[in-house]
Amino acid sequence: MNQQPQDTSPLYQTYARAPLAFERGDGIWLETRDGRRFMDLAGGIAVNSLGHAHPHLVAALTEQAQKLWHTSNLFEIPGQTRLAERLTANSFADRAFFTNSGAEALECAIKTARRYQYVSGHPERYRILTFEGAFHGRTLATIAAGGQAKYLEGFGPKVEGFDQLVFGDEAALREAAAGPEVAAILIEPIQGEGGIRTVPVAFLSLIRELCREHGLLLIYDEVQTGIGRTGRFYAYENSGIAPDILASAKGIGGGFPMGVCLATEEAARGMTPGTHGTTYGGNPLAMAVGNAVLDVVLEEGFLEEVRRKALFFKQSLASLTDRYPDVVEAIRGEGLLIGLKMRVANTDMVAALREAGVLAAPAGDNVVRLLPPLTITEEEIRAAIERIEAAAAGLSAPAQRASA
Ligand SMILES: *Cc1c(COP(=O)(O)O)cnc(C)c1O
Repeated sequence: MNQQPQDTSPLYQTYARAPLAFERGDGIWLETRDGRRFMDLAGGIAVNSLGHAHPHLVAALTEQAQKLWHTSNLFEIPGQTRLAERLTANSFADRAFFTNSGAEALECAIKTARRYQYVSGHPERYRILTFEGAFHGRTLATIAAGGQAKYLEGFGPKVEGFDQLVFGDEAALREAAAGPEVAAILIEPIQGEGGIRTVPVAFLSLIRELCREHGLLLIYDEVQTGIGRTGRFYAYENSGIAPDILASAKGIGGGFPMGVCLATEEAARGMTPGTHGTTYGGNPLAMAVGNAVLDVVLEEGFLEEVRRKALFFKQSLASLTDRYPDVVEAIRGEGLLIGLKMRVANTDMVAALREAGVLAAPAGDNVVRLLPPLTITEEEIRAAIERIEAAAAGLSAPAQRASA
């Protein structure tokens, strides 16, 4: 082992990393240097939407790498225009701004909403309503938007202008939305880090109605739910309630760092020359990969197939709650954004899964997230289920007694 003990590593000690380093990947599989293979249902936290080393993505990246890497946004970048055309043609949006990450896409979304109010004669409207349990990123503004004490502690005054509401509290929402300084409401259609908590359609519909009534913009954070993860191109299609602005990242690059802020023509009207910028955002490498991801995801029948496989996965998981009720409480989520609500500690389940050869990601509310590649096959689902059952059996009290 040439792994450095944590305390002698020159890295910031901000992560409690699993003691695994991978050498290569292929589809759903990840392999360590010493040849141990794992089924990757963590997917780099919902990023590797088409698995590892997808041939079409590898070809797009290497082809672009031989031509041109970076020019900056001082010049036209044809790949941006093409990707923006495809994203807007397949969503509510008319305009796109490309970023390098999810948090930056949200920063752009927040700035877009405030500028809209500013150029509409309402400079006093700058507050953004958000929800408890939300996660919007780790920049100073996005930790204020998420409002979680553990991410804010010790980083100075919380950035002004974000108010957290209780998830699902209609009365509080009605009262807050009527505030004279509110610019927008920001929400994840399904909370990802918060524990795969789906916002009820009735609540989303009330939010949309209140935005109309009070002249507010509706911003969706679809950084985790977007680009096919839930079986729809964007998760909001499941509710039919469209936003004015949307932040997207993670799966859109299939592993290449990129994000995008999408908006309607009207919502983006304050974003005039000079109001916003980025050096790297939308660079030719990112655009080549982003377009390649869409080649696959937008292919006729692809999302339908994701929905079909997701249903099979969920149905296969359903028996876990019957067979190991002391381990798994419920199955949650939409499409291939799957959450196991645990009765044992979620970190114990993640460790047991790793022992069984499966990588999964923990989330809030004691949930284990399963985020397989959208390209997972039925055979791979069966193999994953076998391993997940073995992990659950190992944590079940009757099983532990029997083996004692
Ligand atoms: C991951 C995530 C972010 C932050 O994205 P980064 O690329 O880490 O900045 C924001 N919102 C949601 C819902 C996320 O899942």
